Amino acid sequence: MIPYGRQSIDPADIAAVVAVLESDWLTQGPAVAQFEAAVAGYCGARGAVAVSSGTAALHLACRAAGLGPGDRLWTSPISFVASANCALYCGGDVDFVDIDPGSANLSVDALARKLETAERDGRLPSVVLPVHYAGQACDMAAIAALADRYGFTVIEDAAHAIGGCYRDHPIGSCRYAAMTVFSFHPVKIITAGEGGMVTTRDGRLRERVAALREHGIRREPAAATGAGGWYYEQTELGYNYRMSDIHAALGASQLRRIDGLVARRRALAARYDAALDALPLTPLHRDDRVASAHHLYPVRLHGGAATRRRLYDRLRAAGIGAQVHYIPLHLHPFYRARGFAVGDYPAAEAYYAATLSLPLYPDLGDADQDRVIAILRAELGSA
Ligand SMILES: *Cc1c(COP(=O)(O)O)cnc(C)c1O
Repeated sequence: MIPYGRQSIDPADIAAVVAVLESDWLTQGPAVAQFEAAVAGYCGARGAVAVSSGTAALHLACRAAGLGPGDRLWTSPISFVASANCALYCGGDVDFVDIDPGSANLSVDALARKLETAERDGRLPSVVLPVHYAGQACDMAAIAALADRYGFTVIEDAAHAIGGCYRDHPIGSCRYAAMTVFSFHPVKIITAGEGGMVTTRDGRLRERVAALREHGIRREPAAATGAGGWYYEQTELGYNYRMSDIHAALGASQLRRIDGLVARRRALAARYDAALDALPLTPLHRDDRVASAHHLYPVRLHGGAATRRRLYDRLRAAGIGAQVHYIPLHLHPFYRARGFAVGDYPAAEAYYAATLSLPLYPDLGDADQDRVIAILRAELGSA
């Protein structure tokens, strides 16, 4: 089976995990702090907090941003469910901003229009969460300008995008956002098995996320409390969202070769670009201010939904696991029950109807990619 995405594990990754298993610490040891420092250094962020998943990172970022009951978070409907659920975990509300059809990222024009209306109605969001779809950054400078004008907090969902850049700033640097969230699920750019990270330049946000990761507990130096070294305080309601040292060691080992992993993804994307050029499909529009991390290679099929279905079935029959990214969030039964309906976000719905993600991961060989390409040519005709 050729999946749409999968991890790449090398002997150094295995050795790193084994070393932790043979050490004194399986969790709450030194590997987590080392992974955090490595990610912060790689992204040029001041602070990084490792957690148990990208979903946990989104939840804690929203909590640290102060999102709570009566507050609104806006995100893109073309994303994984976690991008919206994080607001509801905090007791807030979710709304969506339609996408730009070319990049499938949240449309800055749609955002600007929706903000104007929301200001008039007194319903401005407190958090906007742009998703760097497929690894390509959103127009962060424009979103940051709107954040200044309307006073919302920007949290980047960069689950697809570690290793990419926006205007020469590495994703995660938080040049244009309060916090950036990464996922280290096995299909993502680098993996920890499961895991996530919040990066930020703001020391207070870093501390808040770190405390919420551990039950809302803060440890003051013993001298400050006058108590013994055993003393700790729970100051708010947090969680156990810790990352284990086993996971952190794998993540740190992967980060050491992230540039090679992303370069291979870029080369595979360029091979698809060239090989599919004459076919009736459109790859994502590429913003030339952005270096994508190439998490996904989605194509939009000119033949629409019927062609997508035929091609998906044909690829599956050949053992090739193409996938659809994503079913628009507002169309899930859970969100329909919250009042969303078909027709609410037409660009997202049209994108979903005709899109298929082709296999793309560092260990995908040229010969296997050529098998995928041959099926596309046969099904879609090169005429
Ligand atoms: C994978 C993903 C997440 C969630 O990450 P987990 O580590 O699986 O919890 C969030 N947002 C997007 C866009 C994702 O692709």
